[in-house]
Amino acid sequence: MEEIKKELLIIGAGPAGLGSAVYAYRAGMDFAIIDKISAGGQIITTELIENYPGFYENLSGFDLMQKMIEHVKNFGVEVKEFCEIKEITITERKSKTKNSKTDRKYICKSDDIRFLTDTIILATGAGPKKLGAKNEEDFVGKGISFCATCDGALYRDMDVAVIGGGNAAIEEALFLTKFAKRVFIVHRRDELRASKRIQERAFSNPKIRFLLSSEILSFEGKTKLEYVVLKNNKSDSVKKVKVSGVFEYVGIVPNSKIMAGMVEMDTNGFVLTDKNLQTSAPGIFAAGDVRDTPLRQVITAVADGALAATSAEKYIAGIFV
Ligand SMILES: Cc1cc2nc3c(=O)[nH]c(=O)nc-3n(C[C@H](O)[C@H](O)[C@H](O)COP(=O)(O)OP(=O)(O)OC[C@H]3O[C@@H](n4cnc5c(N)ncnc54)[C@H](O)[C@@H]3O)c2cc1C
Repeated sequence: MEEIKKELLIIGAGPAGLGSAVYAYRAGMDFAIIDKISAGGQIITTELIENYPGFYENLSGFDLMQKMIEHVKNFGVEVKEFCEIKEITITERKSKTKNSKTDRKYICKSDDIRFLTDTIILATGAGPKKLGAKNEEDFVGKGISFCATCDGALYRDMDVAVIGGGNAAIEEALFLTKFAKRVFIVHRRDELRASKRIQERAFSNPKIRFLLSSEILSFEGKTKLEYVVLKNNKSDSVKKVKVSGVFEYVGIVPNSKIMAGMVEMDTNGFVLTDKNLQTSAPGIFAAGDVRDTPLRQVITAVADGALAATSAEKYIAGIFV
C-alpha cells in the first residue's frame, strides 16, 4: 500500500473541498485533495445556478464546477480522483508539548493509499434523503430518481411527480416540464418552502399541478413504477396517482459515516464545529454540507472551505489547538 504524508488532507472535491484547496495552496500548505468519484460534487448535475454571485448567464452546475477545478489545476494542484477514504484512525505519540502537531497524526485509508496527515478537512458533502415509503427501495432506478438532470429526458411525454417543496424540488420540477406531459408537485405541507421567485415560476407553468398536504404511502407497479398511493394529510383520504417517474427532493443525509465515533455530530449525523470550523477532534475541520449549518449552498460551502483551510494552517502553526 502506498503511503503519503501531508500536513493536510482534504476529503471531498466539491465546492467546499475546492474552496479549501485554493486557500491551502495560497497558505503554502503541503496538502492533498481527493474525491471518491470525479471532482465537482453534487451540484454538477444541476441545470441552472442563479445564486452564485458574478455568474448569471445560463450557468450550469457543471460549468461552475469546471471553473473551480480549473482554478486549482492552474495552481498545479491535482485532485486525486476515485480515491475513497474508508477508514480514519489516530496515532498519538508521547510528547511534552501536548496537542502539538507532532503529537497527533491521522491515518486515512483508501483501498490502495494510506495518508498520514496532521490535519483533515472533511468536505464530504451530503446525498439525497429517501422518503421511507412502502416499496421505495424496489423502484429506485425503475421509476424513482433523485436527479432530474440525469433522468428527466427518460420521461418524455409522460406524467411524473416531484416530492418536496423546497428550492431544489421546485427548480427540478420546472426543469422536468421540458420533457414530461405533466409534473405533479407532492408536498406534505399546505404551502411550499421554495423562494417566492421560484414559486411564481412554478405557479405560472401550465404543466405543473400541485398536490399539497399530501404524502406518498407506497410505490406500486409490476416491473416498473406505474402509480403512487397518496394520502391527504388534512382529509385522510387516499388516492392513486398514475406516474411513470418520481423525483425525490425531501432533504439530505450527510456523508459523515467515516467520522462516526471520532467527532461529535447532531442526531442526523451532521458534524458539529466551532467558529473556526474545528470539530471536537483537534486538527479535524469540517466544511460545507456535511456540517451542521443553517444554509447548504455552493456559496456557503466555498466560504466554509476558505475558513477551514485558514484554521488548519493556524493549527499547524500552533496558533490555536
Ligand atoms: C438538486 C440540487 C440543486 C441544487 N441547486 C443549488 C443552487 O442552485 N445553488 C446552490 O448554491 N446550491 C445548490 N445546491 C446545493 C449544493 O449542491 C451544495 O450545497 C454543495 O454542493 C455542497 O458542497 P460540498 O462541497 O459541501 O459537498 P458536495 O457537493 O456533496 O461534495 C462532496 C464531495 O465529497 C466526495 N466524497 C464523499 N465521501 C467521500 C469519501 N469518503 N472519500 C472521498 N470523497 C468523498 C463526494 O464524491 C463529493 O464529490 C443544490 C443541490 C441539489 C441536490
